[in-house]
Amino acid sequence: MSTIDVAGVAVDTRHYINGQRVASAETYVNTSPIDGTFLGDIARGGEAEIDLAVRAARAAFPAWSKLGPHKRGELLNKLADLVEANIETLANIETLDNGALLRSHLRGVMPRVAMNIRFFADFAMNELKHDVFETRGHTNNVSWDPSGVAALITPWNAPLMLATWKIGPALAAGDTVVLKPAEWTPLTASYFADLTKQAGIPDGVFNVVNGYGKEAGSALTAHPGIARISFTGSVPTAKIIAHAAADNLTPVSFELGGKSPCIVLADADLDLAAEIAVEQYDNAGQVCLSGTRILVHESIADAFAEKFREKAAALTQGDPRDPATDIGPQIHQVHFDRIKGFVDRAIAEGHNIVWGGEPNAELGGLYFTPTLVMNPAPGSEIVTSEIFGPVLVMQTFSTDDEVIAMANGTEFGLAAVVVSGDRDHAARITNELVAGTIWVNCFFVRDLRAPFGGSKKSGIGRDGGIWSFDFYADVKNTVISPNGWKE
Ligand code: ADP
Repeated sequence: MSTIDVAGVAVDTRHYINGQRVASAETYVNTSPIDGTFLGDIARGGEAEIDLAVRAARAAFPAWSKLGPHKRGELLNKLADLVEANIETLANIETLDNGALLRSHLRGVMPRVAMNIRFFADFAMNELKHDVFETRGHTNNVSWDPSGVAALITPWNAPLMLATWKIGPALAAGDTVVLKPAEWTPLTASYFADLTKQAGIPDGVFNVVNGYGKEAGSALTAHPGIARISFTGSVPTAKIIAHAAADNLTPVSFELGGKSPCIVLADADLDLAAEIAVEQYDNAGQVCLSGTRILVHESIADAFAEKFREKAAALTQGDPRDPATDIGPQIHQVHFDRIKGFVDRAIAEGHNIVWGGEPNAELGGLYFTPTLVMNPAPGSEIVTSEIFGPVLVMQTFSTDDEVIAMANGTEFGLAAVVVSGDRDHAARITNELVAGTIWVNCFFVRDLRAPFGGSKKSGIGRDGGIWSFDFYADVKNTVISPNGWKE
């Protein structure tokens, strides 16, 4: 069967290559994390399908790149309109496929998907002007030229949001695209492909190849016909992709994991701090940006912990389609077992689990209870490794120097949160933190004009505004002399 019924909507399970649906001889099974329901058999692409898609994207590149930002912008804005008209459908499909909250998909995520397309289309039309510098009468004409085929590899925790964060700027820049969505969550990308067709995006400009990372993903990153690789995922996979990219010297943009600190200073508003701390359980902890290490000044640790406990106890775990649910399931049995492994080892090592620490016995399946590990030994696995589940650690500190060393003391540098009632104090801390994004007295506020990305092992490069175009485009400087002209 080439289409499946997902939440009452027909979703194609085949690839989308050159504007056509393409099947593979092999398929793999996709199930819902909500209750294990079989969703469908998904086309399992490999080298052949990737090659077909890259060739189609290369063939479509000359016309798309020459169309110019305004004509591309018209089509991309039409695509954004179609996303907006289909928010409910996309939200329902995504929730069944990845288990994240339906209400978040409806209110935040899917509107953001439309915005990802619209923002970069408008940026290319209105902001991406050629820069002109003068040097002794010579004109330096700086332009952002389309670069070719962008290979996009995306994860399962926010599938369409993170995919369109790449698709938007790549297409707006005049590149054509081959997307390899995460194998556990292929469905919204497929539905989105239908919307690109309806919007009139020419065949071959946007392609989707489904399949496993080791098959379709590695074939894509090793393909000599691509001009860019943009990847969001784990550090070990990034290292494999970096090796593949090295052979062709393909430029890469990586957004990887984190083990971000959430710092509560002694002068913090404790209600606000507890509010922010509990947000770190969002999406069942499957968020690369989460501040999973709560670092609290010792003088307020007990008072903060009490407020944090109250808020954590009020979280409702259950079916993500229920508007009352705050925490849904983990994505997949493999991932669930990985999270449980971290917690089981922490228990075996004698760490103090203050709440949670086990699968939700009532719900069964892939539901893991929100967990807090108190004062684990510095350097222990639970403190340094990214768990990507609803597992937070809380540690105390006594001085600014100490908390700065703790905050910066992992291999990651994606994000940080600082909660403080004193602007100067907050600034003294933020100045010293190594992180791509720091939130002060807030969490998860994102502006597409601002740079986003990771320091240290959390990534290479930045997305957002001009940073996205610096990556997807070929930046060119043409120096024109005042001399030698015949007129
Ligand atoms: P996670 O551990 O969160 O599943 P991964 O980094 O393994 O994260 O996966 C993120 C994306 O990378 C997925 O689309 C996956 O299929 C893809 N991927 C995994 N392995 C490879 C690989 N060797 N080459 C290219 N892509 C890969």
